[in-house]
Amino acid sequence: MSGHLAVVGLGPGDARYLTAEAEDALSGAQALYGYGPYLDRVPPRQHQSRHASDNREERARAAAALDHAARGARVAVVSGGDPGVFAMAAAVCEQIETGPEISRRVEVTIVPGITAMLAVAARIGAPLGHDFCALSLSDNLKPWDLIERRLDAAAGAGFVIALYNPVSRGRPWQLGAAIERLRRHLPDLTPVVFGRAVGRPDEAVNVMTLDAARAAPADMATLVIVGSRETRVIARPGLPPLVYTPRAAVAAEVSA
Ligand code: SAH
Repeated sequence: MSGHLAVVGLGPGDARYLTAEAEDALSGAQALYGYGPYLDRVPPRQHQSRHASDNREERARAAAALDHAARGARVAVVSGGDPGVFAMAAAVCEQIETGPEISRRVEVTIVPGITAMLAVAARIGAPLGHDFCALSLSDNLKPWDLIERRLDAAAGAGFVIALYNPVSRGRPWQLGAAIERLRRHLPDLTPVVFGRAVGRPDEAVNVMTLDAARAAPADMATLVIVGSRETRVIARPGLPPLVYTPRAAVAAEVSA
């Protein structure tokens, strides 16, 4: 007997960003697995068990959810934003590839969600309007020197860069070091967007320059978008600025 596992993206926080498909997957599940604060966003339903775990226990959570589904249940694992972006969908795939054979028999559905960089970008204009990439600054699962090489390559090639996981309690210096690294490639006045807790009551979105971004406060709920040489800020009287990256680029802007 094999059940079903849905890996569900909840979006950045605001319930209006939950897709209808995600809502269906959540209401149809007999068991929910996830990081506690994400599970708290899902209203309780009768006859549905909830299994909260710590943020760092993604692999163990994937194993437990797959095991539960393999025993015939309809199970949902929740992620913030999109489950395929630095989140549970890859952890579930890793577990299916390397875990017990039975997990390969579980039907799996990945339910996409609005990822943080899209929610932050939408608040401020169109910073991702031309070529961009996304990097996690967490060096828990990859070495710091690889992150530095990727920052060099991305900035050198003219990409706008979305930085996930900029800071955590155990990783206080990584964002400052990344900004310093990017300053080797980009002018001091390059626009940088700090989007904090977008879609939640304590949301804050700020625009600053790369030079000032060195000392800017950020936390685990912050996503940082570093512009390219083409990214522009439009000042508007009585209205917040618009940050955007034009749709066209010239080869001279690329240093690599
Ligand atoms: N799967 C998630 C990302 C998980 S990594 C997604 O697709 O959004 C966790 C990082 O995502 C945080 O450190 C932060 O950089 C970013 N993030 C998640 N939710 C956010 C929000 N509401 N506002 C701003 N950044 C957010």
